[in-house]
Amino acid sequence: MESKKSEAIILRTRDFGESDLIVTAFSNHYGNIKGIAKGARRSSKRFVNSLNIFSLVNLAFKEKSNRELAWIDSCDLVDGYPGIRSSYTVLSNASYIVEITEILFPANIQNIELFNLLKFALGALSDKQDPEKILIIFQAQAMRIGGFGINLSKCSICGRSYKGKGRALFDPSAGSLTCMSCGKETSLMPGLNPDSVHFLEMIQSPEIPLTDKLNLKEDVIVELKEALRLHVEHHLGRRLKSSKYV
Ligand SMILES: [Zn+2]
Repeated sequence: MESKKSEAIILRTRDFGESDLIVTAFSNHYGNIKGIAKGARRSSKRFVNSLNIFSLVNLAFKEKSNRELAWIDSCDLVDGYPGIRSSYTVLSNASYIVEITEILFPANIQNIELFNLLKFALGALSDKQDPEKILIIFQAQAMRIGGFGINLSKCSICGRSYKGKGRALFDPSAGSLTCMSCGKETSLMPGLNPDSVHFLEMIQSPEIPLTDKLNLKEDVIVELKEALRLHVEHHLGRRLKSSKYV
């Protein structure tokens, strides 16, 4: 068995037997990996303080083709993002991010862009950046990477182009803007001001550098938070467990 190495973020851990851990991690080179870390709950030099959720680590593991679980050889901590545990709100936001990652990218689908986004979002949350802003950026980017980018160019019903002026509606079932002539603003089809549409267009673009320095006005945060929550829930097919806490 060939040993593989990759940077990875720990998404989930579960006790197994007397002293082992089952670990789910999203890795840079191999996507989502599930493996067993033997003896990790006893003091073990191979896993010193590294197998905690949200941690960025260097993982060494082996995979057998007929086995569901990889064998985790060792794990070195790069960054434990300790600030994530500073408040319940931040922790809930990080949990929501992990849940979206697991649903969008199940086992062995590699995506370096998503790995970098995950690393950026968890790092920014740990650095005490505004959690609502980070969650908006994460959701817009992650959905676009997963193939569910929001159509902001034209109305999903009449096809009229959106010129960046005036209020528009967001229709979660179409994953698209709808014009005010074709629909009515409701809690299931919320309205968006031009500033919100423009900001969303910017943050879901693949060209935008990942940064927490973007300025967001309060009304843009309120509108995009709601629209993206509906978008994620519609396309990922169920209410995410952690969404009620964010
Ligand atoms: Zn229309």
